Amino acid sequence: ALIITDDCINCDVCEPECPNEAITPGDGLYVIAPERCTQCVGHYVEPQCQLVCPVDCIPVDPAHVESEAQLKEKFRRLQLD
Ligand code: SF4
Ligand code: SF4
Repeated sequence: ALIITDDCINCDVCEPECPNEAITPGDGLYVIAPERCTQCVGHYVEPQCQLVCPVDCIPVDPAHVESEAQLKEKFRRLQLD
């Protein structure tokens, strides 16, 4: 999963781009729900939020480093919701 850092300027550009509805306005800054972020695996070849973020503040979350296989499995689970 990716994570939004303190550099976020709350521009709201990323939220509508997420195919998994993983991004929400949090308490101050936008946040990504790690259980919903597949790093766009299953939908796109690149993370869409990273592509649109004007301040480049969405790295991989060191607490949620996942393999391609794990991200694909998360994608499959989300389709069943
Ligand atoms: Fe959503 Fe993709 Fe960004 Fe994860 S990487 S938060 S799935 S847009
Ligand atoms: Fe924050 Fe970047 Fe999303 Fe804008 S696009 S709300 S700066 S994370």
